[in-house]
Amino acid sequence: MDIAFDRDHIWHPYTSTLHPLTCYPVSHAEGVHLYLEDGTALIDGMSSWWAAIHGYNHPVLNQAVTDQLSKMSHVMFGGITHEPAIALCKKLVEMTPQALEKVFLCDSGSISVEVALKMALQYWHAVGSPRAKFLTLRHGYHGDSFAAMSVTDPDNSMHKLYKGFLPEHIFADSPECGFFDEWVEEDISDFTSKLADNADQIAAVILEPIVQGAGGMRLYHPTFLKRVRELCDEFGVLLICDEIATGFGRTGKLFACEHAGITPDILCLGKALTGGYMTMAATLTTEHVANTVCGGEAGCFMHGPTFMGNPLASAVANASLSLLQQTPWQEKVAAIEANFAEILPPLKQLDCVKSVRWLGAIGVVETHTAVDVEKIQRHFVERGVWIRPFGKLVYVMPPYDISTAQLRQLVEAIESGLKSVM
Ligand SMILES: *Cc1c(COP(=O)(O)O)cnc(C)c1O
Repeated sequence: MDIAFDRDHIWHPYTSTLHPLTCYPVSHAEGVHLYLEDGTALIDGMSSWWAAIHGYNHPVLNQAVTDQLSKMSHVMFGGITHEPAIALCKKLVEMTPQALEKVFLCDSGSISVEVALKMALQYWHAVGSPRAKFLTLRHGYHGDSFAAMSVTDPDNSMHKLYKGFLPEHIFADSPECGFFDEWVEEDISDFTSKLADNADQIAAVILEPIVQGAGGMRLYHPTFLKRVRELCDEFGVLLICDEIATGFGRTGKLFACEHAGITPDILCLGKALTGGYMTMAATLTTEHVANTVCGGEAGCFMHGPTFMGNPLASAVANASLSLLQQTPWQEKVAAIEANFAEILPPLKQLDCVKSVRWLGAIGVVETHTAVDVEKIQRHFVERGVWIRPFGKLVYVMPPYDISTAQLRQLVEAIESGLKSVM
């Protein structure tokens, strides 16, 4: 591979063109392993950012893509429909909470968030009392496009860089009560007062249920989410749940909302939707919201991406969801969680470690100071694992098929890596 060309011409996520970090050349992937060009096998701790829940090069998913490819890889969705999209949406309506009945397919997670926010704005416009503010939580992450970024943590996404262009929304303190902690009612107080003070301007609350991902890997108490739903009902505000990272079993429930037994008015899905094969996302809503939006001045929802409902992506998403339904994913995720509960706590003994936490197939080690990504990643690769830390967070969310021995190898590499670089 022409690594020099890559370094000189290709932008990678959140990486400097002046001082690029090392990029490792991957030639193929199989099961829970990524293979470097020189043949090195790495146990994948990231599922390619939450997406590859079934691992790589899966025969069932490969077959779904191949079968669809020979029929039609793409066709416009305006005025046309097709079996892969119908089968996928049927499955999504079936799997998600009962009230969510209308599915909007789109290109990526960030776009599904844009779609959700636009639905909420159009809803209030149609109702005849336009509202233009969103209430969200500090340390949240909802994507990198502008509207999604405007509800992402202001410090992490450096809102000041885009001041004057970026809409300004309302941020409540993020929950302090951890998932397994005892609930403290005070945890919801800042959220409650921000909602009460601005209710008549707020179109919707948007948040990540239970797990705040890229904004800090915080795992919070289900009662917080339950209170949010109650308060949204009390103040007549829509609730958008962004399950782009948490959806499809990652937290031990099919959807993280289930931990609190709540149903949002609008739900965003992405990442693992296609089993990590290609980009696709979905925004689901209730009949009430959809029909209100379409009963308004515009007469329809004002969005329609070129590759909406792409048949290849729909086919592989449908196959991935069937595969999930047919495998005992609850047992696999519960086994991963039980392993984390055993092997993560000893890491607290390291001086550099501030805390460890876990839920479902997510394990997190937070350090006191930022880790040197270049150095620790070299260590990880030498130890045969793929883990990509950011800031003070070294975390893993492996494919569900990872074995206990492989999971231990990931956590041992984190321990030895922290010892050698911190
Ligand atoms: C990754 C992510 C997004 C953005 O999805 P993209 O596909 O990267 O645009 C939005 N919300 C959450 C919670 C995410 O984890």
